[in-house]
Amino acid sequence: MFPSLLVANRGEIARRVMCTARRMGLRTIAVYSDADAQAWHVAEADEAVHIGGAAAKDSYLRIDAIIDAAKRTGAAAIHPGYGFLSERAEFAEACAEAGIVFVGPPAGAIRAMGLKDAAKDIAEKAGVPVVPGYRGDDQSPERLRAEADRVGYPVLIKAVAGGGGKGMRRVESDAEFIKALEGAKREAAASFGDDRVLIEKYVARPRHIEIQIFCDAHGNGIHMFERDCSLQRRHQKVIEEAPAPGMPPAMREAMGAAAVKAALAIGYRGAGTVEFIVDSSRGLRPDGFWFMEMNTRLQVEHPVTEAITGLDLVETQLRIADGAKLAPQSSVRMTGHAVEARLYAEDPAKNFLPSIGTLRRLALPPENGLRVDTGVREGDAVTMFYDPMIAKVIAHGKTRDEAALALARAMERIETVGVKTNAAFVARCLRQPEFLSGDIDTGFIDRHIATLAPKPARPSGEVYALGALAALLHGAQRSGLADSGPWAIDDGFRIGGGGFDTVDFADGDTVLEVRIERIAAGFAVTAGDERFAATAQLEGRRLKAAIDGRSIDAWYEVTPAAVTLAMGAETTTLVLHDPFDIEDAGSDTAAAITAPMPGKIIQVLAEPGQSVKRGAALAVLEAMKMEHTIVAPADRKVAEVLVKAGDQVTEGATLLRFAES
Ligand code: ADP
Ligand code: ADP
Ligand code: MG
Repeated sequence: MFPSLLVANRGEIARRVMCTARRMGLRTIAVYSDADAQAWHVAEADEAVHIGGAAAKDSYLRIDAIIDAAKRTGAAAIHPGYGFLSERAEFAEACAEAGIVFVGPPAGAIRAMGLKDAAKDIAEKAGVPVVPGYRGDDQSPERLRAEADRVGYPVLIKAVAGGGGKGMRRVESDAEFIKALEGAKREAAASFGDDRVLIEKYVARPRHIEIQIFCDAHGNGIHMFERDCSLQRRHQKVIEEAPAPGMPPAMREAMGAAAVKAALAIGYRGAGTVEFIVDSSRGLRPDGFWFMEMNTRLQVEHPVTEAITGLDLVETQLRIADGAKLAPQSSVRMTGHAVEARLYAEDPAKNFLPSIGTLRRLALPPENGLRVDTGVREGDAVTMFYDPMIAKVIAHGKTRDEAALALARAMERIETVGVKTNAAFVARCLRQPEFLSGDIDTGFIDRHIATLAPKPARPSGEVYALGALAALLHGAQRSGLADSGPWAIDDGFRIGGGGFDTVDFADGDTVLEVRIERIAAGFAVTAGDERFAATAQLEGRRLKAAIDGRSIDAWYEVTPAAVTLAMGAETTTLVLHDPFDIEDAGSDTAAAITAPMPGKIIQVLAEPGQSVKRGAALAVLEAMKMEHTIVAPADRKVAEVLVKAGDQVTEGATLLRFAES
């Protein structure tokens, strides 16, 4: 085995690859961008090399910088992970030229599968069923429309160079065709610099079922069964599992054989995934699957295959790259069922918009019985530069139900503060009766979106009561009265004078008063017109409380502006009402300007002492890959500027203050 490995990637996949490499005794080398100097994958590596700026194109996508890092550290091999350079033939070639082992297929195989139309031609020639459609050179709108008519609606327009669900449009009828074609071409040109498209029959009740394959350098190919990745939103995977629910053995065998055939046809080597689209409208049948594309790399969802086979796929990759022969197909067995969920920093209530910020709290499920692959720790940031995936959580059980429910339970217990996540959304998917009965297809999430991602409700009276208790107890602790006097904690809480305390929250434009009264058994809390009997105490960063006898254990944070409670996967921030607070950026009398969302300051246009007119640009904030100009709410004088270009700011951070007017 080669003695050292550079991982040309970041985050969870860099850590996951290095974990196996370390176990196999290899020296591990990480690379990192400006944004990742403190990242976990860097800290864990034996050596780390800085390769450039935060933007992927300035670092993780730079072939020259990575090859240079490998040469400088004497790396014998490079593993590309997934994403970034993993499917770039030129990268495989650059490794070969530098005399470094590329842990992946030969450049020719990457190229052969790189374009969806050419890949389908190859599959067809190898005798693998391909979705009926048109993949010709004539790209005129008239021809494409005529081909769509011939194929029969609904059809799917796909970018030939596509990936990640981009440049794809489902078209229901001839009348919509031209408009959809224009949209797909525009997106394809912008994302891939190639606006060519192909037309495919849209398969009914589609299921995405893919086969994990391996080929060695000696002409052997095997498969490691299937993964079902039908739970998708916007053609992107959310929940993956192995095996596929309801898979007949004859179909598994037919799909496995087809996948191996497609791979051997292009002289494949290493790990790859052949993706098929399956028509589930008449159940799963050996003649009901069609080749979609081949991903010539390790897949995000490979852990579910590892769970059911007991094999380490990265180890297999490294051994093949080192020239080893594959074990025979008959040696690959599966036990039980595995389900993986991708935990993303995104807001399901806002159409899954990525959510960036610092993870002030991150508690992932303890690893008993579950596998957690992550690249971030509490205190790390999810930035706009990279994929917003926080972690993958994988459950393996004897049955599908067991794995799915264990995963749901784990997702419900994940605590995150600082970014919004899809944890509760994923848990709802996993508990959905239709999902549990195995009745899934790629339309599942859209069909159930109203129940899976409900509009956020106003916090309940109970949550306000808990927030008020946290604020009060925290305030008491902070004022140093916790150890003695009326706030003594050891014998419960006492509020001096038999009076009551109030905490005021801003609830939209109104104020919600929570009144807390000390009673013998704890507290009597009134929130709006609801009354609760409560007990509560703080233990470190946790609020341990009981409301009407129901116990609650939440992570809490109290700032002068708000109380945040993380109760399992549901995180709530309650804004404290301050009668003297005029920091409302929207109003003419605002004392300060705050960031409307987390992001990066691109430009500061105001300086202290400057008088600005209403509407004048004060700063430019980049968030979610868009620029937002922050303007003066009224004619004012700037007193203080608290940020500079390049600063990362959290939502609500004060950017500048005005002089009193
Ligand atoms: P898969 O079918 O495995 O989801 P995709 O082509 O959608 O394949 O991408 C694989 C994964 O690689 C994505 O889910 C994403 O997490 C990651 N990825 C892709 N491009 C990038 C990138 N530029 N930076 C970071 N991660 C990326
Ligand atoms: P990408 O490169 O973006 O991963 P794919 O060709 O793999 O593109 O398709 C992505 C997803 O789009 C699939 O997982 C599936 O949900 C859906 N899809 C693709 N082709 C079809 C089809 N012919 N019929 C129905 N759904 C399809
Ligand atoms: Mg795909």
